Amino acid sequence: MSGPVSEVSTAVTHPFLDLAPLTAARFASIEDRVARLLRTEQDVVIMQGEALLPLEGAIRGTAGPGTTALNVITGPYGQTFGDWLRDCGATVIDLAVPFHTAVTATQIRDAFAEHPEIDFVSLVHAEAATGNTNPVAEIGEVAREHGALFYLDAVASVGAEPVLPDAWGVDLCVIGAQKAMGGPAGVSAVSVSERAWARMAANPRAPRRSYLSLLDWKERWVDGGRKALLHAPAQLEMLALEACVERIEAVGLESVMARHASAAVATRAGAVALGGGVGGGGGGLEPYVYDAADAAPVATTLRTPSGVDASELVARALESDPALPLAAGGGALAKEMIRVNHYGPDATPDAVRACLSTLGAALTAKGLTVDVAGALRAAEDAWR
Ligand SMILES: *Cc1c(COP(=O)(O)O)cnc(C)c1O
Repeated sequence: MSGPVSEVSTAVTHPFLDLAPLTAARFASIEDRVARLLRTEQDVVIMQGEALLPLEGAIRGTAGPGTTALNVITGPYGQTFGDWLRDCGATVIDLAVPFHTAVTATQIRDAFAEHPEIDFVSLVHAEAATGNTNPVAEIGEVAREHGALFYLDAVASVGAEPVLPDAWGVDLCVIGAQKAMGGPAGVSAVSVSERAWARMAANPRAPRRSYLSLLDWKERWVDGGRKALLHAPAQLEMLALEACVERIEAVGLESVMARHASAAVATRAGAVALGGGVGGGGGGLEPYVYDAADAAPVATTLRTPSGVDASELVARALESDPALPLAAGGGALAKEMIRVNHYGPDATPDAVRACLSTLGAALTAKGLTVDVAGALRAAEDAWR
């Protein structure tokens, strides 16, 4: 039998289409690879959605009216976590620190001293949106001393700096592949400790038979020996995640992290050398995060000179090269913050150079004095 329909269906192939089904065994092997990347023995569940899915699912699964949560706010995500926690009926103690700095373990210790009833700590590791990174290992130690469950958003840190849930006592560690891992955005993963599973099992309000439910994955996937998937997996994203972890394994996680660290120090040094003040004096571009030790390797945030609107400057830079990994800060930060998102494939000397040159040209167009050659030299020296 032949005809136009069957000819079309066999003649047209496409790399994204007509794939063999993704088997449970393949799915489990991708989970195992992610677990190895995190050096964890905990259960790793890959969720079929962007990282906000496990971020919300983990909070709704473990928090309830009996929970007292210490919610650390070092950027916009902390705000969201606090809202979810309150929505679950938890008592929330917000600990907000200025976005140009990081929280300290001492601040966490003081919060426990003041509120010994705290039994949950939520923290963002690195903030791509504000450019800071927090001392997770030290905070994990404090949380463990007090027996609190420790929830961590490591979406922006994984691949850019060490993320070690077991060594740091993290009970719920959420990652996504779309930042430093250079992978897809549509799937994400969470490592879950035995303590966290027990909290969920004991929580009558934990989502069940729901897309947000981690317990469904525990009961129907993990406990069943990972033989049958709950629903058809996001096949393309799963394959992309596998490819992305494979690529990291091939070059080595250490080397991927080193590339991000170099991009961050080079961008910071380059921006300072670039200047952008009036008549070559001070008042040029400045690192948004004051202390280099608090600056995230995944993205570098810069403060624009006074009178220079960051979103305007970024728009001008993107006009000349739309592929640059530049963005203005979100919300109220749009006026004063430039984000250099040197993550994944953009953590390269070329991308850093291109960002500095283009920002230099945009500042020059505003009538400000910059030293592009000096910036490129400083960036190169800092990279080595
Ligand atoms: C990027 C990011 C996420 C995921 O959010 P998207 O904007 O959808 O990529 C979550 N948490 C943090 C800290 C992030 O930086």
